[in-house]
Amino acid sequence: MNKWLEDIQFHLLPGKCILCGAKSHRNIDLCQACEDDLPRTIHPCWQCGLSIPSVQEICGRCLVNPPLFSHCYTAFKYAAPIDTLINQFKNHTNLVNGKVLSHVLAKSYIADHLILPDFWLPVPLHKSRLKTRGFNQAFEIATTLADITERPINSRLCRRIFHTPDQKSLNFSDRQSNIRKAFILDETLSGETIGIVDDVITTTATVSEISRLLLHNGAGEIQVVALARTPSETKQAMLK
Ligand SMILES: [Zn+2]
Ligand SMILES: [Zn+2]
Repeated sequence: MNKWLEDIQFHLLPGKCILCGAKSHRNIDLCQACEDDLPRTIHPCWQCGLSIPSVQEICGRCLVNPPLFSHCYTAFKYAAPIDTLINQFKNHTNLVNGKVLSHVLAKSYIADHLILPDFWLPVPLHKSRLKTRGFNQAFEIATTLADITERPINSRLCRRIFHTPDQKSLNFSDRQSNIRKAFILDETLSGETIGIVDDVITTTATVSEISRLLLHNGAGEIQVVALARTPSETKQAMLK
């Protein structure tokens, strides 16, 4: 958005912070002080997004056994109050929370990246889950990313063809076999850089499976972009 448009919006709609309730005095419903207090991953590994103790770029595990995607970027650590905000967004249709968190994600993504994906691919929901929830939270996040980064969404490329059982209690390898062949592609690819969009990254099983499918069908490079990353892959998040 143009700076002057943001200035007009700032004066007309001062915004109300979703955390403290005060006027945000910005074009999003989150004040700067509350944004500054949100939990972030300190020194994330460039490739998997997990926190690593030193300032090295890639963690030891990714050096030995790299994931299929080349980069995982998340705005927040999955901890209070992010866990509650995302739960309200995803399971209680609080779209304002989703919009605010996606806005912070998109702004920080753009500040940290010179090269953007050719398009955004929201992780698809199975049609039965879409019917129950009424919206796809990954698509909502991708809409804000697309708007701010000026890169399109391609939500027709990939479909979820079967509904996977609840993954909450499964570890990475169980989730991996659970999710295998849950998706199909409806278009061919020719070397594009694709940004897969999800809400929370926990074990990476879902985004790894979509990455495998995309690369197998001609994608050039895969990035994963999400609101939050759990601090470790054994800690569970609220999953699809
Ligand atoms: Zn606030
Ligand atoms: Zn890593």
